[in-house]
Amino acid sequence: MIQMDGNRLVDGLWCSEVLAGLSVGSETRGKVEEHLRECSNCERFGADVAGMLAALSSQRRSFTDEIGARLKSVLSGNPLR
Ligand SMILES: [Zn+2]
Repeated sequence: MIQMDGNRLVDGLWCSEVLAGLSVGSETRGKVEEHLRECSNCERFGADVAGMLAALSSQRRSFTDEIGARLKSVLSGNPLR
């Protein structure tokens, strides 16, 4: 597995792309979910993200900004409260 800083390549998807993937189509969302299952880096907030992804699939983009901010904070090592 390739790893650099807080950004890992899992199942062909970087952590940073998980963030990007949240705002794109369902095809990528499947890869995002795969990544979340196998990436211990994202696992820390994976449960939250999985729940939010489920919410997203029904409620669309209203949560995207909040999720994005959250993922960015985790990836930068400064989780928000
Ligand atoms: Zn990850």
